[in-house]
Amino acid sequence: MIFSGKFPSGAGIQRGGPVTVRRPRRGSGRFPAPLRSSPALRAGHARQAAPPPVRASATPHPGWRLPAGRPFPGRLPRLRGPALIAILLALSFPVPAQSDSSPNGLQQGTNRPADSSGGPETGNAPVGGRNSLEPSLSLDDALKSLGPDPAFRWDPLFRTGNISLSGHHASFGAAYPGEEAPVILDSREILSLPAPWLENGLLRFPESFVAGIKRAFDDSILNEQFRYRIAAIVVDPGHGGKDPGARGTHTINGKSMTLSEKDITLEASLDLYARLSAAYPDKRVLLTRDRDVYPTLEERASLANSVPLKDNEAILYVSIHANASLNRHARGYEVWYLSPDYRRDLIDKEKFQDSAEIIPIVNDMLQEEFTNESIMIAQAINRRIGEAMGRSLPARGLKAEEWFVVRNVRMPSVLVELGFITNPADAELLSSGESLKKLSEAIYKGITDFVTSFESSGGFIFSQ
Ligand SMILES: [Zn+2]
Repeated sequence: MIFSGKFPSGAGIQRGGPVTVRRPRRGSGRFPAPLRSSPALRAGHARQAAPPPVRASATPHPGWRLPAGRPFPGRLPRLRGPALIAILLALSFPVPAQSDSSPNGLQQGTNRPADSSGGPETGNAPVGGRNSLEPSLSLDDALKSLGPDPAFRWDPLFRTGNISLSGHHASFGAAYPGEEAPVILDSREILSLPAPWLENGLLRFPESFVAGIKRAFDDSILNEQFRYRIAAIVVDPGHGGKDPGARGTHTINGKSMTLSEKDITLEASLDLYARLSAAYPDKRVLLTRDRDVYPTLEERASLANSVPLKDNEAILYVSIHANASLNRHARGYEVWYLSPDYRRDLIDKEKFQDSAEIIPIVNDMLQEEFTNESIMIAQAINRRIGEAMGRSLPARGLKAEEWFVVRNVRMPSVLVELGFITNPADAELLSSGESLKKLSEAIYKGITDFVTSFESSGGFIFSQ
């Protein structure tokens, strides 16, 4: 049942890394048909589709703190195997041709330039007019100096290698001695380092190459603790206490029963809470109420907004309701998310005192991100309820609203209307503990779909 009323001012942004510059995919069709297509909504989406009024820069604005461990947005999209090789090929740094497939020198002395245009011999002698080469290490010594037990692979066809350590990997190609070449770190970042070369069939690694790789690995391992995750989920059973919410009186199984929305939302929410708590012992799962009491809407929002989060942590808010209509034939479930037309103040302005001019920009980016994430959660829940309930409960689709309950929480948030308490068929379903469990399980699955997708992509950055 829909709330109405004034909305209070919240305090404190409740998402870690409020200035994280992440790029939700634009115009990619991720949020297609189910959206109710009101002119206002279309306008909102058109606005969303426009590029942000800020350019990614490797030099953050003073006071614009990029969270540690998040790559600058100007960096590469995620590259996978073939793309990686294509890039290495496209860069086509010159590599002395050689027939030796082993970098370990099992067939020493077989590397000879293939072209006759004066390609340098690979050898100890300085090459290409360079008079001195920096000291270099053998493969064994290079790997030893990187850390415990790094893995090494070599592709003789492309003359590219890959060093892995603690789940991170650096791909490189051999080049002429003394030349710089790109190193691709974790399929995501390019470093330019003095390249390894082949010398009598043996790979030689410039010291600065090894040092650069080591530094990059150390940084990456350190940064893992800053990977984005959902740290908390707030489950909000609508109404309660003095506020029964919607009511409906029906004859169910031969008996006249009056159902109150507050009881249904509590029962479904307690089940949802239990499932989420069991699935995510490492997350905070919170209820805005666990019995028949009435927290005000301000109290619900402020509970959610006051959950402490680290810079890399996010929180979700899911409000559970049941619907009502004067039309007894109206039935089915709905999933609502905050309309993109409603622009919230998401930024704690005190944190940005020194750079007030960027507040609207960052606020817009956060708003867009929260809206997109809210839509994704809503879609996942919508799909799961559809799967679970089939024809027994019609889908009324996703709805966007400047929705009072969720408009004050500074986090991705959705509201589920389980069904119409005023409709006899829906009421029978909502009065059945078994059906209600099916509904809460479906909401649970929708949330886990979103959490898995969010966390496995590291917060959707560069996700494809
Ligand atoms: Zn309600």
